[in-house]
Amino acid sequence: MAKKGILIVVSGFSGAGKGTIMKQLLQQYPEHYALSISATTRKPRTGETDGVEYFFRTREQFEEMIAKGELIEYAQYVENYYGTPQAYVNDQLAAGKDVILEIEIQGALKVKEKFPQTLLMFVSAPSAEELKNRLVGRGTEDMDTIRARLGRAVEESQGIENYDYIVINDMLEKCVEEIHAIVSSEHSRVSRNINFIQQIREELSGFSKGE
Ligand code: ADP
Ligand code: 5GP
Repeated sequence: MAKKGILIVVSGFSGAGKGTIMKQLLQQYPEHYALSISATTRKPRTGETDGVEYFFRTREQFEEMIAKGELIEYAQYVENYYGTPQAYVNDQLAAGKDVILEIEIQGALKVKEKFPQTLLMFVSAPSAEELKNRLVGRGTEDMDTIRARLGRAVEESQGIENYDYIVINDMLEKCVEEIHAIVSSEHSRVSRNINFIQQIREELSGFSKGE
């Protein structure tokens, strides 16, 4: 019986290390996971390529994607639109991959509403100070943007109870293993194995009738 993958949302404060973790997780388990590539109106950072980290789009192009119903969800985050294209996610889930959406909290809640079996994980740095150091140390945003992102983190911290798991990204390797372990045990959840349970019940009742 072909097994459908799990839809996983990973959110977390800007600078917590989500991008770094995802890269490592996919490198270690390329057969297991597929990472959804979002569309955004934000400008590419140095080293980012269209179609790799994001599909970089103009506001008009993004609004057209919304109008055509091509996005599972979208949200505004610090002056830009971000959204998840539907087609890739559906294809990869059907192929049995666990699909990760690395998205912010409003989008996460919309996905959970649409697909209640979504696994929600929140990634944090070990402290607020370390978060700020990482954000500044990354060197990709000016101080105004960093302040806006830290302001957004205050709001996001109020929503953590909506998530199933919180993972602290202190040592990167340990954090990656923790996320993989959570996903692996999620596959054993009874509610995700209803087809198997029905099948074994039928087989057993066949036995008891002497088939
Ligand atoms: P996010 O995608 O959550 O905004 P990034 O993955 O870009 O965060 O990470 C922010 C910065 O923190 C980067 O410079 C990255 O190299 C660094 N970083 C990520 N994980 C760790 C870690 N476990 N320890 C120290 N620095 C880290
Ligand atoms: P960044 O600009 O640092 O790449 O991302 C900013 C925020 O947007 C992060 O919290 C990231 O998780 C979120 N994000 C990225 N893609 C999407 C998406 O498709 N939908 C939503 N709702 N948020 C996204």
